[in-house]
Amino acid sequence: MPATPISSKGITVTAGRPDLVPPKWRREIQSVLIPADKIARRVRQLAQLIKKDYKNSDLVIISLLNGTVLFLADLIRHLDIPVKLDFMGVTSYRTNTLPGKPLVTKQPQLELSNREVLLIDDILDTGKTLNFALGVIHAYHPRSVKTCVLLDKPSRRVVPITADYVGFRIPNHFVVGYGLDYAERYRNLPFIGVLKPEVYATTPIL
Ligand code: 5GP
Ligand code: MG
Repeated sequence: MPATPISSKGITVTAGRPDLVPPKWRREIQSVLIPADKIARRVRQLAQLIKKDYKNSDLVIISLLNGTVLFLADLIRHLDIPVKLDFMGVTSYRTNTLPGKPLVTKQPQLELSNREVLLIDDILDTGKTLNFALGVIHAYHPRSVKTCVLLDKPSRRVVPITADYVGFRIPNHFVVGYGLDYAERYRNLPFIGVLKPEVYATTPIL
């Protein structure tokens, strides 16, 4: 029997597991939405899809700082094809969990003109950040640009944009862990967890 093809469109995650939250995090984290082993499996699948699509090209990966660091590190170690790596910084002045207008804080440094570019972000939410970053990259005249996000919250979209490679489609919760922060904390959690609303209601963003 032929193997089921891996979907690039994301695995749907519906409910978190409060019982999987490690005791040390129970005061702040309400549930584990995606456990570490499930993330690892999906990241390997995304790497397989990307490898297949870019096996004959000189790929430049541009990763958006800072939320992508864990995802990027895990993804690229499964990409046994030639890749170049660069980073871009985009910030949105935010009030707690509500994003504002995006600004570039770090431009990519590599030559992008006529290159195949894969833009990576941690989460696609309203779509403003990815859409803005795509505009910045297009100004360098790459040959092609595709996008890859670990998480997608389709119900929150304001800008009509989809990513080419999606890890998981998640419900509308504010999530942290595996690179994603709240007020620069929680990036080191090995899982994706739902932050308790009382944390972002009472902790200043910075
Ligand atoms: P967008 O511009 O699509 O609304 O938001 C994208 C950016 O907002 C992401 O790169 C991420 O930094 C942040 N963001 C959106 N939703 C979440 C979330 O649930 N948790 C965290 N930690 N960051 C988020
Ligand atoms: Mg981000």
